[in-house]
Amino acid sequence: MSEKRKITVAYGDGIGPEIMKATLSVLKEAGAAIETEVIEIGEQVYLKGISSGIAPSAWDSLRNTKVFLKSPITTPQGGGFKSLNVTTRKTLGLYANVRPCKAFAPFVRTHFPKTDMVIIRENEEDLYAGIEHRQTDEVYQCLKLISRPGSEKIVRYAFEYARMNNRKKVTCMTKDNIMKMADGVFHQVFNEVAKEYPEIETDHKIIDIGTALIADRPEMFDVIVTLNLYGDIISDVAAQITGSVGLGGSANIGEDVAMFEAIHGSAPDIAGMDIANPSGLLNGAVMMLVHIGQPEVAEKISNAWMATLEDGIHTGDIYQEGISRQKVGTQEFAAAVIERL
Ligand code: NAD
Repeated sequence: MSEKRKITVAYGDGIGPEIMKATLSVLKEAGAAIETEVIEIGEQVYLKGISSGIAPSAWDSLRNTKVFLKSPITTPQGGGFKSLNVTTRKTLGLYANVRPCKAFAPFVRTHFPKTDMVIIRENEEDLYAGIEHRQTDEVYQCLKLISRPGSEKIVRYAFEYARMNNRKKVTCMTKDNIMKMADGVFHQVFNEVAKEYPEIETDHKIIDIGTALIADRPEMFDVIVTLNLYGDIISDVAAQITGSVGLGGSANIGEDVAMFEAIHGSAPDIAGMDIANPSGLLNGAVMMLVHIGQPEVAEKISNAWMATLEDGIHTGDIYQEGISRQKVGTQEFAAAVIERL
């Protein structure tokens, strides 16, 4: 067996601990050569009075291992602490958020059995720069920052991803009919970089009709590259139409460090009930294994996971009479995957 690769792990909030336990049990039984270093992030850290939601020692671990498997965390809405997800992505320079969304028909119910798209979302700029001002008692301003170098980095990443993964088409989505400069530069960079990849078909959609088409005709998309906020929204739509937001994993890629997680959030409404689907985080972990040079283990887990879905062993979010055979909880689902390794 190859030498064990050290990775940093955070159990997160809400359903985080349950899906992480399930995911790590599958990784262990599949023979992943990893050694985990656990850090605390999120609610438990805020409660200790650390307003960033992450202790300095945790940053040391991340900079040391350079690989982060992270469960979702709860971010207060409309006030309170700044999003730790945004802080992590910016601090570690995780500029590319890669979110594959694929249907598993006929085993998981979907209206769009041929869906197979990868959303590549810019991950550091846009309205997520977190620059907000109160201008008057009644007016608030939030700055949208888009840079040419940032746009070029993500657009080039998307074309390289398409080339490496034998994808045929890259679609850019912006709102440059309204934000002519900010979204305009992104679209312009897309047109420029596209010329370097003549074998790849290109297209541009204005984000509103683009989102409608993802919800209605997802088969027409292959790779999509877009700005931070639009990518956040369309990847939830894309994951949901494949059957459940609980299925999709994501990779946050930087020059030095990479973070792997589920697309979905901490789902506080079902936390502690052992009913969450661990597939999103497990698929994120599969992407991590490829990243750290263990593709055989990744493939073994992926095949066992698909066999579990094919056998109709489903968590509640994807359970359908007539398609599913057995409704299982989070840990039971992981055990079923392990049986099929
Ligand atoms: P959510 O994704 O947590 O949940 C949306 C709906 O999907 C809920 O009904 C939930 O029960 C269901 N769901 C989500 N994951 C599931 C799974 N694995 N299995 C079964 N059902 C699942 O979105 P939300 O409710 O808008 O957000 C909750 C919290 O998560 C917020 O604090 C938000 O800021 C945070 N969040 C964190 C991340 C992250 O850490 N990367 C991402 C998105 C949202």
